Amino acid sequence: MRFFLSRGPAAGSCEFREANDLGATIIKGRATAAELRGYIAKRVAEFGDARGSVPGLAVVLVGDDPASAIYVRNKARKTKEVGMVSFERRFPLEIEQSRLLDHIRDLNDDDRVHGILVQLPLPPQIDANAVLNSIDPSKDVDGFHVSNAGLLATGQNGMVPCTPLGCQILLRRHLGDLAGAEAVVLGRSNIVGKPMANLLLKDNCTVTLAHSRTRDLKDVCARADILVSAVGRARLIGGDWIKPGATVIDVGINRVPAPEKGVGKSKIVGDVNFESALQVAGAITPVPGGVGPMTIACLLSNTLAAAHRITGLADLRSFA
Ligand code: NDP
Repeated sequence: MRFFLSRGPAAGSCEFREANDLGATIIKGRATAAELRGYIAKRVAEFGDARGSVPGLAVVLVGDDPASAIYVRNKARKTKEVGMVSFERRFPLEIEQSRLLDHIRDLNDDDRVHGILVQLPLPPQIDANAVLNSIDPSKDVDGFHVSNAGLLATGQNGMVPCTPLGCQILLRRHLGDLAGAEAVVLGRSNIVGKPMANLLLKDNCTVTLAHSRTRDLKDVCARADILVSAVGRARLIGGDWIKPGATVIDVGINRVPAPEKGVGKSKIVGDVNFESALQVAGAITPVPGGVGPMTIACLLSNTLAAAHRITGLADLRSFA
């Protein structure tokens, strides 16, 4: 039996937690995401009773990138499963920016649509920021509009990007009160790293935001009680980068060769070397099955919250 110092559900208190000989607790994002979707489905039914309609999510896809098409299909399926309406708008790769902006304007004006998501990346002739900032902020369920990013950065309530929101739910559920924890976020993108750092700051962590120019990255990581990696480098983080007992959230999605599965086969791994991290961490999210399912569940949650606000229903109770 090993003992790790970790924060327990008893709010704000440090306690020793038991871990079995197999190593770290595995934080099951898939199960939490299923629970969240169940919660959303019930609230969608209540919304229907109150408003006589259901929340609608529009997904905009430019081009025919196979990976993006799979994501979009998956999102549409999950949207329908919780009882919402899914609208798909597909455009050719060569679409002009002005035409795309016209379509976004139509979605902004469409009362059946409460959430709008533009699948990234966009082709080079299109300024992604111009498109994201053309979405009505109250329908910006990805939370990428500059006004929602500003609200989060200034500690105010707005639409929060789905992946960091999913990580926050997993962390709160696992650790309870995060106040005082030393948190290190790897990666400073607008869609994961920066909003994640802002959420942790809002939860009163002491936050370090690391990136490709960070010196002594291993030492920086090794002081984290909470380590969130959103880098996109397969197995960058070994067990020897992790503080014993730390909670590790692996956002990374990296495709690597998997000859053990057959010639030419591949598989998805995270930024963390899972096997070696298991021996040291207090808890860790797996890849796949950790953060990924939470991202889509949080997209649905944001859409429902947007529908409540737009139609004047009371704000939803927080799931976390
Ligand atoms: P970006 O490429 O936009 O950002 C990557 C960040 O990692 C940058 O800030 C970069 O630093 C930093 N970085 C790159 N290499 C290193 C290194 N060797 N050491 C330290 N920092 C490094 O990626 P995203 O934020 O969009 O995504 C990150 C990962 O998360 C990807 O694998 C992506 O697939 C995954 N992802 C998963 C989601 C999910 O639902 N599970 C959702 C979204 C993303 P710098 O700024 O200096 O260049």
